[in-house]
Amino acid sequence: MIPDLNHIRLDRLPVNKDRSIQLSVLRTDLIHPVISGNKWFKLQYYLADAIKQGYKTVASFGGAYSNHIVALAAAAKLSGLKSIGIIRGEGGTSPTLQEAQQWDMKIIPVSREAYRDRQNIAALFPDHEKIYWVDEGGYGILGAKGASTILSVTDCSEFSHILCACGTGTMIAGLIMGSSECQKIIGISVLKNNRQLEESIAGLLPESMHNRITCIHDYHFGGYAKHPGHLIDYMNDAYKRTHIPTDIVYTSKLFYAAEDLIKGGYFGHNANILIIHSGGLQGNRSLAKNTLCF
Ligand SMILES: *Cc1c(COP(=O)(O)O)cnc(C)c1O
Repeated sequence: MIPDLNHIRLDRLPVNKDRSIQLSVLRTDLIHPVISGNKWFKLQYYLADAIKQGYKTVASFGGAYSNHIVALAAAAKLSGLKSIGIIRGEGGTSPTLQEAQQWDMKIIPVSREAYRDRQNIAALFPDHEKIYWVDEGGYGILGAKGASTILSVTDCSEFSHILCACGTGTMIAGLIMGSSECQKIIGISVLKNNRQLEESIAGLLPESMHNRITCIHDYHFGGYAKHPGHLIDYMNDAYKRTHIPTDIVYTSKLFYAAEDLIKGGYFGHNANILIIHSGGLQGNRSLAKNTLCF
């Protein structure tokens, strides 16, 4: 099955009518069960650039459950490129990496220490100059440009606020580029105390857009990929109410934040809010069976 942008749709969610707030979700998770959401968008211009420059192989970095790695494996294969994944830690046999291998990605596990020094790995790699290297998580200007096209899949001009989850900040940079100045773009950081986030986002944007960066740092639930019981409870409850599945790393924290901010009166009267469901559901396979009701 090949990823298909035609599967993306807008879901309208009910909210308390008296405050006249509207809430919708852009379902980029529906592109494909594994290769979903923002990673697909972020990769498109890197791959086009690699092909244009005559590269035959792309490589990147990630953990054993990385959405980015599996999306790169598929996107590279479908673009006629070979791919290499440099993987942090020993977790060589996760379902995510198995899937990446099915897309013919060459998986190279490295120790956590070596991974920390990954720029060096790239430099020492045999034939490294023949490989097109994509940063961890697809961070970079081409990634942001790719993410900016998320908002052109369907008409999003009606929305006053657009909320997304932030890891590297590449997607939110793209959403800022791809939206109009009167729309407010709000990023929910999934990392704890990532005070470099705003700077990383600014690094991908022209200076005239820096005043449009808004990040909220209160919904990390303990840190990257941490998923305490009350987050799992929320995911199950949210699924029962909305029939929308979320993932433990990004979108559950985003959805929780959106609902909490609405309850707390963060948005003004008549706010018309769009949540970007950026996918990532395959990462839930790291959970024990039956943890989630979906
Ligand atoms: C990677 C990812 C993000 C974060 O995107 P960045 O561009 O790194 O900020 C958000 N949601 C999902 C599902 C992701 O896989």
